[in-house]
Amino acid sequence: MLNPTAPQPVLTADQVLQDDCDYVVQTYKRPPFLLTRGEGVHVYDSEGRAYLDWVAGIAVNALGYGDPGLTAAIQNASAGLIHTSNLYYTAPQAELAKQLVEKSFADRVFFTNSGTEANEGALKFARKAAYEKGRHDQTEIVCFSGAFHGRTLGSLSITPKDKYQKPFHPLLSGVKVAEFNDLDSARAAIDERTAAVIVEPIQGEGGIHAATREFLAGLRALCDQVGAVLIFDEVQCGMGRSGKLWAHQHSGVTPDIMTLAKPLAGGLPIGAILMTEAVASAMHVGEHGSTFAGGPLVTSVAAHILERVSQPEFLEHVSAVGDYLQERLSEINSPLIRAVRGRGLMVALELTVEVGPLVEAGYQNGLLLVNAGTHIVRFVPPLVIDKAHVDTLVEKLSTMLSAI
Ligand SMILES: *Cc1c(COP(=O)(O)O)cnc(C)c1O
Repeated sequence: MLNPTAPQPVLTADQVLQDDCDYVVQTYKRPPFLLTRGEGVHVYDSEGRAYLDWVAGIAVNALGYGDPGLTAAIQNASAGLIHTSNLYYTAPQAELAKQLVEKSFADRVFFTNSGTEANEGALKFARKAAYEKGRHDQTEIVCFSGAFHGRTLGSLSITPKDKYQKPFHPLLSGVKVAEFNDLDSARAAIDERTAAVIVEPIQGEGGIHAATREFLAGLRALCDQVGAVLIFDEVQCGMGRSGKLWAHQHSGVTPDIMTLAKPLAGGLPIGAILMTEAVASAMHVGEHGSTFAGGPLVTSVAAHILERVSQPEFLEHVSAVGDYLQERLSEINSPLIRAVRGRGLMVALELTVEVGPLVEAGYQNGLLLVNAGTHIVRFVPPLVIDKAHVDTLVEKLSTMLSAI
């Protein structure tokens, strides 16, 4: 018998980097070190070097690393059922759905395994809502410049970026791209053939641009006029990141569908499609499904995360530290800084030069940083980060910027 707790042979960082280079599809550009553990808001590499984490696994690790409550939630859930498929009832899925509905505009929830899958489902549900009304020609989808909705073919079709789309044509037909935050452009694109309008209340990959209240309210009215479904993609900006539980709460405008994923289970893969009864009632048995989605392990853990993140004190912390981050970044005296913007702990530092060298310098200086496009550093840290960490960041950034 193998002893399951026996230590595994330890490979050196060089061996792991070589194996990755030899065996993994090379779609990711990674820095040359090996992350081996995390604690709080720091991760550590195999040489024991610490990195203050402003990335959080791309806005995923809301509670940081080694959170005792999260660890206990995973341990407890892992001792029970891990997976059953959606052929059977299990308690955690129903209870998480109830908690999401009670804390949002929505009446029902469909679970997925990722953000792109949540958006795929949302598009299908929107088309089905029109189909159910006998509107078989109401199939078009309107999306916006700068949007990111995912990498699978449907979500890719509504992510208007040449580098992502071009090699994979033909994409979904019937997609129109309007200008983000430009209501005239949206008005020109939305008509009786529009099944869905999809927008991020705060664009993430596009460079941390918040939709204006007027824009979202205008989209709401246009969708109501033509009977289209309004979808808010809160995969990145939702679940407390903006300082409110849902980013659209800053605008007072509610969608018909909201998609979630990244931080929902604190690092385990999950996505969710929240919707009104009007949308949900168009879906019947067998019309959509997933083998893994909404399993008891991930949904138990997500319930723990949602409970923690939705506490008023938690959200106040996100707002306070986020405001402080913007304030301190704005104080940096560098001719390279073009703009600082964002909401909560979703903040952009836009430079007049490409940010690649700054991200690289971060690795040398114990910082994990990520770009959004070529000229923007995007700060999406664990939501438990505090003001002292902001001070450390700003001190290091000031030095790094003056060296560029
Ligand atoms: C990351 C992201 C997605 C895609 O999520 P995956 O889990 O990577 O498929 C979709 N929409 C937004 C706004 C995102 O930030």
